[in-house]
Order: sequence, then structure tokens, then C-alpha cells
Amino acid sequence: MRKQIAAANWKMNLTLEEGLKLINEILEAKIFMETKQEAVFAVPFPYLIGIENAIAKTPNFYVAAQNCASEKQGAYTGETSAQMINSINIPYVIIGHSERREYYHETNKILVKKINLALANNLMPIFCCGESFEIRQSDNQNGYVQKQLAESLFHLSAEEISKTVIAYEPIWAIGTGLTASSQQAQEMHAHIRKVLANKYGSVTAENISILYGGSVKAANAVDIFSQPDVDGGLVGGASLNANEFITIIKSLKKTQ
Ligand code: PEP
Repeated sequence: MRKQIAAANWKMNLTLEEGLKLINEILEAKIFMETKQEAVFAVPFPYLIGIENAIAKTPNFYVAAQNCASEKQGAYTGETSAQMINSINIPYVIIGHSERREYYHETNKILVKKINLALANNLMPIFCCGESFEIRQSDNQNGYVQKQLAESLFHLSAEEISKTVIAYEPIWAIGTGLTASSQQAQEMHAHIRKVLANKYGSVTAENISILYGGSVKAANAVDIFSQPDVDGGLVGGASLNANEFITIIKSLKKTQ
């Protein structure tokens, strides 16, 4: 069974003190995790080491960076490279979040460079894809997401793509309170898995975790995560509340 992941995306929220308090509240819940279940915390760069230290002794808890540079190293003031992230033992990095695509103009082509650098530095990318409201309205979401995958990921070998996680995040559902219905999520996840199977074969496709993101909260997590092709979620707003995120982690599908 592929990994089931509850990934928190703190975005640009919380002070270090608030972040540590949140993590400690979640740790105090002593959530039982099955072998292939994971909780991942994508935290702001300055907090990576502190949060990594806080969760170090908790099995199946990991830290992620929210982004990495598209260049390897050098005169890029303000950027953080994949190598730097790996050098502090962070295993995951979010690549291509819709906020980065929209506000920082990250194109599918730029994301190829980030994906390659992440993999070259032993980071597991959580690659985000998903359509806007207009694209969903015109029923072109399947083709749009397929193009995002093809243009940013399909240069990878089967072995390389097996080291990635995909997060389907319809833009119209991010931070809006609107959630894709569990049926809409399942339909898109099944589509993504079919596209992966056509390119890489069904064994590879079956082993890739595909997360859903877009207003996941305690109240809807079980419904969404129980869909056969949904392997957990990437969670923004609700991940900033300990009780909400504890329930979301507990809503992951059983893996044993
Ligand atoms: C996200 O930022 O990836 C996200 C899904 O946010 P929210 O859960 O707040 O919609």
C-alpha cells in the first residue's frame, strides 16, 4: 500500500513560539501512526531546524520546506537551494504550489528545474497541480492537470517519479472554504493515476501517493481521504489549529 500522508502547509503564518506551541500540542496527542502513515509539516524556512528538532523522536513525523530555488547555487540573494535544505536533513519540499505559480510566476518550465534539483539532492518533492475556477467551469480540468504533469514531471524516469508525491489542489478550493466533493476529488485522482499509468505503467502509478488539497478540515477529512485514489491531504488553514490537524492525521486511511 502506498504512503498515506497528512501534510500541513503553514505558509507564511505563525511566529517560532507559536509554531513550537502548535507542534507540541500535536505531539502531546501521541497519535498512533501505522507503518505507511506520515504527518509532514511544511514550515517557513527559519523554523525548519527548530521544528525538525521538536519532532525528531516521533516516528513517521517529518518536516518539509515550502519551496526551493530553481538554481543550484550562487548569487541569488534571498533564495534557498535544495542542497541547503538537504544539508539540514529535511526530507520533503513542496514544489509548484499554486500561490507560487500565481504570485511568483513559477511556470511548468521553471518547476522542471526545481524538481530536478530536489531529486538530485535527495528531497522528495510534493508536486502541486490543479485548475482554476474558470477551467473547472469549462470542464477542461483533466486536460489542464495532465499538461501540468507532462510539462513538469514526465521527463523523469519511473524510478525518479516514484520518489515524488503529487498534490492535487484545485485553486478554487484553496483557502476559500469551498471543497471539491469527495467524488470530484476521486475523479481527478483516478485521472491523474491513469495518466501516470499510461506513461510509467500501472505498478509505478499505484505506488505514487496523490494528496488532495483545498479546504480540508477535521469535518471533511474522513470523507475525502476514504476515496480509493486519495492518499491523504495537503492542508493549509486547518493545519494551524492543533485539534483540527490531530483529527486530520487520525483520518488517514489505514495501511495495515
Ligand atoms: C494549501 O495551501 O495547500 C491549501 C490546501 O490550503 P487550505 O487548506 O487553506 O485550502
